[in-house]
Amino acid sequence: MTVPPGSTIGIVGGGQLGRMLATAAAQLGYRCHIYAPDPGCVAAEVAAEFTQGAFDDEGALTRFGAEIQVATYEFENIATGPLAALAELVPLYPPVAALQVAQDRLEEKRFIQRHGGRPAPFAPVDDRAGLDAALAAIGTPGILKTRRFGYDGKGQARIDAPGEADAAWAAVRGAPSVLEGLVRFEAEFSILLCRSGEDRVATWAAPCNRHEGGILVESRVPAPPPLAAAIAEGETLARRVAEALDYVGVMAMEFFAVEGAAIFNEMAPRVHNSGHWTIEGARTSQFENHIRAICGLPLGATELTAPRVEMRNLVGAEADGWQEILADPAAHLHLYGKGDARPGRKMGHVTRLLG
Ligand code: AMP
Repeated sequence: MTVPPGSTIGIVGGGQLGRMLATAAAQLGYRCHIYAPDPGCVAAEVAAEFTQGAFDDEGALTRFGAEIQVATYEFENIATGPLAALAELVPLYPPVAALQVAQDRLEEKRFIQRHGGRPAPFAPVDDRAGLDAALAAIGTPGILKTRRFGYDGKGQARIDAPGEADAAWAAVRGAPSVLEGLVRFEAEFSILLCRSGEDRVATWAAPCNRHEGGILVESRVPAPPPLAAAIAEGETLARRVAEALDYVGVMAMEFFAVEGAAIFNEMAPRVHNSGHWTIEGARTSQFENHIRAICGLPLGATELTAPRVEMRNLVGAEADGWQEILADPAAHLHLYGKGDARPGRKMGHVTRLLG
């Protein structure tokens, strides 16, 4: 089904991803209607309409559904029940099934294994005794991660020795979790894929990503040649998973590269921070292709627009350096319009096209 330009796209979630989606949608002649709890959210600022509502308020989501022609989401911590009710009213992409998989780290890893992917060694942890059992099975060092509601390194605790188990259990507040073995990776990369309803799949060059404290700091394309085999494996997995989920829209999968293998870390059923470079660095950005896919339009070309592209996140006070960044005429500055530059908060990013 084609949702023609002039229609209204509903976006559940009001962060910077929604802001960049709404900007791309406007360029194609769509109106966006943002649904989020915070009336001051940065996506609403650039959208035609805004509804304030809690993510689990099925009644409010249903009323929102009556005002839009197609829906998407830019935020993963949404109860899937109310979202499924919205999907009864209007087409909702990516499918709720993809969100269900990605919301639970344990289910996600098992799902990936069923599709031939290789996560880091892991064991479920449901209680404190379960953590001891998982440590005995996986060993140290490891990372304890909550099954749900983690992002940007939140809900995680590293365990270097069994004696640190109590502190780690306190750090995750006793929530159902997964213990992962620490992966000694050569690099991290992500696969960015967009699938349209007609079963067309576009991928972008896989960025090589660097994280600090669990937060993405930098993405670079193309990835160094030694990562080619791991990237090919990751892309095969991402395509298989997209097919299995009958996926529509942009999907990101994060991997660790280890001796030519792609060790699965996590997937995101949405546009992704490691794809922000595509705004200037690819012929069609992840945001535009996501909008094209959910509206049933043909996908745009995804080749690089420069030999090399680098994207750096502006985290916390780094965004205060905007004048210095703009002094470099080659820098493409994006600021998300967030007022309060709290430490660890993603305030913007800067992309450079390099020769
Ligand atoms: P996550 O939120 O799970 O994507 O974790 C954020 C970042 O922490 C990752 O991108 C890695 O840099 C690091 N990390 C997470 N899990 C592991 C692991 N099992 N082994 C090594 N590093 C990890």
